[in-house]
Amino acid sequence: MTSIVMPEPRAADPVAALDTVIADVIAPNAAGVDETGAFPREGVDALARAGVLGLLSAPDAGGLADAARVVERLAGACGSTAMVVLMHYAATSVLEAHGPAEVRRAIAAGEHLVTLALSETGSRSHFWAPVGTATPDGTGVRLDARKSFVTSAGEADGLVWSSRPLAAPGPMTLWYVPSGTSGLTVDGPFDGLGLRGNASSPVTADGVRVPPGAMLGADGAGLDLALGTALPPFLVLSAAFSLGVMEALMDAARDRMTRTRFEHLGRTLADDPGARAAYARLRVRVDGTRAFLADTLTALGTGRDDATTRVLQVKAVAGEAAAEVADGVLRLCGGSAFRRGTGVERRFRDALASRVMAPTTEALHDFVARADLGLPLFGEENRCC
Ligand SMILES: Cc1cc2nc3c(=O)[nH]c(=O)nc-3n(C[C@H](O)[C@H](O)[C@H](O)COP(=O)(O)OP(=O)(O)OC[C@H]3O[C@@H](n4cnc5c(N)ncnc54)[C@H](O)[C@@H]3O)c2cc1C
Repeated sequence: MTSIVMPEPRAADPVAALDTVIADVIAPNAAGVDETGAFPREGVDALARAGVLGLLSAPDAGGLADAARVVERLAGACGSTAMVVLMHYAATSVLEAHGPAEVRRAIAAGEHLVTLALSETGSRSHFWAPVGTATPDGTGVRLDARKSFVTSAGEADGLVWSSRPLAAPGPMTLWYVPSGTSGLTVDGPFDGLGLRGNASSPVTADGVRVPPGAMLGADGAGLDLALGTALPPFLVLSAAFSLGVMEALMDAARDRMTRTRFEHLGRTLADDPGARAAYARLRVRVDGTRAFLADTLTALGTGRDDATTRVLQVKAVAGEAAAEVADGVLRLCGGSAFRRGTGVERRFRDALASRVMAPTTEALHDFVARADLGLPLFGEENRCC
């Protein structure tokens, strides 16, 4: 749970305050978070105090573009912290549109960390087809489900939760579930290849009771709501996440190429044309991703006709680029980077997460093709029972 935040003056510009929090808390803790798998609590609390967690709640803030800058910079320092904040922003977007006023106020004040609980053990990465149920239970509603991954599990204060509808037709209904609700269990610590501190554990709901007012939007309308509110920020911020990891990898490559010497030749790696060509290919990949993300934000900001297509593409573009760039940087930096300590191997592992997070690259490619071919986004084979 988010610790009680001591009242202190909020930074006037949370994005500007971010650099200090990264330098003082998040970067120094990043290797330890990776090594132990501990949730980056100190960094998350420092971000809350700096106003960063309330960024999407502030009416005068730059919105998604600012959030993308935040996630990119965090991802360069600590992938686990960046993923926690990314999920918080995606869940906040749903709650800003449909959530209770007191939860929105607490998020704006930096006192409430939230996350998405969509993926299930049954329907796996097909988050659009929950198999978990919502059933009438006296004056309330009973939720039962096995969620397969929930970032910040046991650490967030509240979950945006999907289930099959209570009574209405449709694929999904969304709920707001406070983390302390009886019947919710976090099924063990997260032990992953990368993002080791992001606490993406499975969560089980066994007879969780919520009031009918916990429903977000209308019964059966949850998928449209998730696609309209959570998906755009999630996809854009996932791209920003990949970009941040790639930039940090490129910094490591530049450092390695210019500083380490072949003493017997009196040269650096940067003196070698083959190494420079390999570096340039990676640089072009990173800069191409940055241009794609900027174009996506412009398309969204100006309501361009191709905004939906760009949004569906951007996470796949960035996630695949991140995996390629991580592999290329590891090769360029050699065996030294294969060891712990340079930060390259940690970022290599972190870079691989985005493409397997739903919607995965495969799902996004299918959505892009369907949109372009005039087909419905979800085919019959993807519909739930
Ligand atoms: C670090 C991390 C954090 C996460 N945090 C959250 C979170 O906070 N909230 C949340 O709800 N979920 C979260 N997830 C879950 C994530 O969004 C995915 O649901 C999960 O990674 C899917 O894994 P799976 O093994 O169930 O994949 P599967 O669904 O079993 O898929 C395995 C592979 O098959 C491919 N595949 C599946 N269906 C098709 C198809 N029809 N055609 C072609 N290929 C297909 C997939 O693309 C994937 O490559 C997180 C996952 C990770 C790794």
